[in-house]
Amino acid sequence: MNPAEILLKDMFLAQRRIDGMIRTTPLIDASLLSQRSGRQVRLKLENLQKTGSFKLRGAANALLTLSDSQKANGVLAFSTGNHGRAVAWVARQLGIRCVVCLSERVPAFRVQAMENFGAQVVQKGTSQDDAYEVALKLEKDDHLTLINPFDDPFVIAGQGTIGLEILTQAPDIDTLVVPVSGGGLAAGVAKVLKTADPSITVIGVSMDCAPAMYLSIKAGRPVAVEEKDSLADALLGGIGLNNQHSYPMVEKYVDTIELVTEAEIEQGLVHAFLHHGMLIEGAAAVTLAWLQKNQTHRSGNNIVGILSGGNMDTDLFSSILARHTNQTKSS
Ligand SMILES: *Cc1c(COP(=O)(O)O)cnc(C)c1O
Repeated sequence: MNPAEILLKDMFLAQRRIDGMIRTTPLIDASLLSQRSGRQVRLKLENLQKTGSFKLRGAANALLTLSDSQKANGVLAFSTGNHGRAVAWVARQLGIRCVVCLSERVPAFRVQAMENFGAQVVQKGTSQDDAYEVALKLEKDDHLTLINPFDDPFVIAGQGTIGLEILTQAPDIDTLVVPVSGGGLAAGVAKVLKTADPSITVIGVSMDCAPAMYLSIKAGRPVAVEEKDSLADALLGGIGLNNQHSYPMVEKYVDTIELVTEAEIEQGLVHAFLHHGMLIEGAAAVTLAWLQKNQTHRSGNNIVGILSGGNMDTDLFSSILARHTNQTKSS
C-alpha cells in the first residue's frame, strides 16, 4: 500500500469518531475583505476550537484509535505547543498518561497551558529536533506511544474533518487559503476539497523566515531549515526528513505555497482584532496576511481562509496593537 494514501472515507470515519469531543466551528463572512476585493471571503474559525486550535481534531482521532495497551502505557508528543496542548487535553479526557517534549524556545505561556491540562512537560534543547531526540528516548524507555503532530494518517484524517465542515458550510468554495507548517492541516483539508472538486484551488501560506514545507517542495524532498523566531511560532519546525504522509499529500493536493513577511503577519493579527474582535495567533494570521496582500490579482470568487488557532501571547499582542494604534494616530 502507498503509505501516503489516506482516503476520503478516513475523514468521515474520523468525523464520527471525534464527534462530541470537538466543536463544529463557525464559518463567518469577512465583510471588509469581501468588500475590498469584490469577492466572497469567508473565515473558518478554528481559533474557536476547544484548546484554541484545530490540532484537537487530529489528536482526538489519533488517541481514540489507540489499542488498550497503548492507552495503558500513555502517550508522548513533541510539539511547539498547540499539538501538545491538544494531546494533553484529549489524554486527560480519556484518562491516559501524557508526556510532552518541547524545545526551550517554546514560550512559557504555552508550557503553562499544557501543565494545566495535566501533562508532564520536558523541555530540552533549542530546536524541535532536539525535543524529538528526547521524545524518541522516552518512547523506548517508558513504552509511550509517540503522536506525530502532522505526519500521521489519523492526525491528517482528523484535520481533514475541517474540509468536510467547509463543504457543508460553503459548498460553493473555489479557493482555500490554509496555513502550512508540517502540512497535516493542508494535506487533510486539501484531500477532501480536491476529491469533492479538483478545480478548487488550494493555497498554502507560510512565513518567509523559515518555510520548511515550501523549501522541501521546491527541493523535491524534505529538507531541514534553520529555526528562526517568528510571530507565527506555531508554524516553526521542520517537516521531518523521513516524512511519509503529509509531504507527499501536500505535493499532490496543494497547488502552491506562498510566503508572507512578519510585518504582514502583524497586519493580519491587528485586522482580526479590529474588524472581527478576535484574538488570533500568528500562525492563523498568515491567512489574513495573504488575503490582505492578494485582494486584487487573484481569480477565485468564493474564498475560504482557515484561521487555525487563537493561542496568542497577550503581552506580545498588546505591544503590537499599541504600536499600530500609535502609528495610525500619528499618520
Ligand atoms: C500546527 C499549526 C499550524 C500548521 O499545521 P501543520 O499541520 O503543521 O501544517 C497552523 N496553525 C496553527 C495555529 C497550528 O497550531
